[in-house]
Amino acid sequence: MNLEIVTIGDELLLGFTIDTNAAQLARELAALGVRIVRRTTCGDDAESIRQAVSDALGRTGAVITTGGLGPTADDMTKPAIAAIFGKGMRLDTGILTALRERWRKRFGHDLPVSNEQQAMVPEGCTILPNRHGSAPGIWLEDAQGRWVIMLPGVPREMRGMLADTVVPTLRDRLPVGGPVIRSRTLRTANIAESALADRLGELARGVNGLSLAYLPGADGVDLRLTSWDRDARATTVALDEAAALVRSKVSRYVYGENDDDLAAIMLAECAAR
Ligand code: AMP
Ligand code: MG
Repeated sequence: MNLEIVTIGDELLLGFTIDTNAAQLARELAALGVRIVRRTTCGDDAESIRQAVSDALGRTGAVITTGGLGPTADDMTKPAIAAIFGKGMRLDTGILTALRERWRKRFGHDLPVSNEQQAMVPEGCTILPNRHGSAPGIWLEDAQGRWVIMLPGVPREMRGMLADTVVPTLRDRLPVGGPVIRSRTLRTANIAESALADRLGELARGVNGLSLAYLPGADGVDLRLTSWDRDARATTVALDEAAALVRSKVSRYVYGENDDDLAAIMLAECAAR
């Protein structure tokens, strides 16, 4: 399944907030076998949101958005996306009642009028409950099976809803035993990117159909192998084989894998000697 992410918020465009939602979504969905083919960020205006989501839907038919579901005037994700589907908005009394109860319990007073907007939902949508905050998520799908899931911007709520509803729902829609996307990283030090590529020779551009990325950093260059289109078992085998092949060419520079830390490994080596 190919999917696009649209993250919404002026604060993201201005750089005041780092777009952690897009990274979190990408990591969790890759493990399921959902391929994120493009990420877009747009500001808090209805036309930008409509355009970004409509373009994304046109390409993949599957879009997840985050942000702009709150109670204030800059939160216009729902009506902007409803318009793409030719839907109006309706007041959902179930959400309104839940919001009123939540406010009375948490803050000891009545729901402010501005929060009533959070009970407005697109006609014909599925409401995704949010146990972690006040704004529920929204699932809109058309007759051709093109869909958009709208999630809140607050990272804690977004993560909670991803685990509660999005991942289980998408898993149900994906074929059993279908492809998953997994990576394995070999961490190298004391060698430049270009010198690694020279030593890898034919493997430099990919290993047995797995992609190979060169990721230079302060400690050295990480070599990240990624398998895109095998089932879970074949993926493990392919990553093991590819990692062994790469190691056979550059083993003297490889100090660890994945989250291994260069300083910790040096310390252990010193202690052992
Ligand atoms: P919103 O749902 O747009 O009202 O956003 C609520 C809060 O979540 C704000 O403090 C945002 O800065 C934060 N937020 C929104 N989008 C993201 C994102 N993509 N990554 C990280 N934080 C975000
Ligand atoms: Mg916002």
